[in-house]
Amino acid sequence: MNTRANQHGTPDRIRTCDLLLRRQALYPLSYGRLDTDVCELYAGFGGKTRAQLIEHIHGRAHVAPGGVNIGVIKADDGNAILIDTGLNDTAARKVLRELNAEDRQVVAIVTTHGHADHFGGNAFVVKRTGAKVYAPSWDEAVLRYPLFQPLCLFAGADPPASLRSGFMLAGASPVDVVYDAGPLQIEGVEIKAVSLAGHSGNQMGLLIDEVFYCADVVLPDRVIERYKMPYLFSVRDHLKALDRAQETPHLTAVPGHGPTLEHVGGLVDQNRALVLEVADRIVIICREPLMAEEILARLLGELEADPQDAAAYYLLHPTIFAFLTYLEERGDVSHEITDGRSLWRAR
Ligand SMILES: [Zn+2]
Repeated sequence: MNTRANQHGTPDRIRTCDLLLRRQALYPLSYGRLDTDVCELYAGFGGKTRAQLIEHIHGRAHVAPGGVNIGVIKADDGNAILIDTGLNDTAARKVLRELNAEDRQVVAIVTTHGHADHFGGNAFVVKRTGAKVYAPSWDEAVLRYPLFQPLCLFAGADPPASLRSGFMLAGASPVDVVYDAGPLQIEGVEIKAVSLAGHSGNQMGLLIDEVFYCADVVLPDRVIERYKMPYLFSVRDHLKALDRAQETPHLTAVPGHGPTLEHVGGLVDQNRALVLEVADRIVIICREPLMAEEILARLLGELEADPQDAAAYYLLHPTIFAFLTYLEERGDVSHEITDGRSLWRAR
């Protein structure tokens, strides 16, 4: 764990650069317009806004189920810790209202990864409660500078308005403590952070009282059936994360989206099979040397997946490159620059 401390030994709150905030403010944040298709494709988020009533799981572990599941740890001292806060303040507000009715104070937010639908409620919760924000190293940069999310989808460049919806671009969150895999002491509560990098650069699962909050390491089966190809940052790391999730002992798994599971194992197999199938298809497509965008178009055709707008399409832009890196490492494809084109071919 890496706490940033000032000379007095107290953590400095890392604030987002004003310039970036002003720049983001130039574009409308359409929190009201949730594109369900895009949400599901990225992370299984169904765009649902049903009541976030807090349910007990085991020991101190609870969940407020919703389009994005919010973990709630009810500490013995009467305080509460949230695991993720949802897309915006809507769900977080309901959770705070319920905890307030029990006279519980939210003292910390542990963010699993730097995707807008998981930290979009942070700013609201911090404003209301003064809770400390814990974020994984690397992903913490996206919380502080949320524009990194759409700009990564848009090849590192200033993203167009179509990639700046609320789902793609959350409000900035402060970060108080940057953490890595291992034991985490949070306000007197011991939580174990498990690396589930792959879906994002440094996604973390969190284990407490035998409940495994496993973020987006697996997607629910309805999403897999419908979309075939989920967003990935690193295929190599994601496959390792699936193994690690399967091997992590737990009694109950709470994925970031979808229902609570007895064990994450069943969905791990399904998610792994999907990744390996997409990888195999890409190798076959690359028997003819092709640019990445052409490979993606052919793959989408084979899978009968049809992204409907820029956001849905550009979520798959880094994903196809993630697969090409993985296949090159495996020795299945090679890469060359020819006549001003970047071509990938099967070996
Ligand atoms: Zn995610």
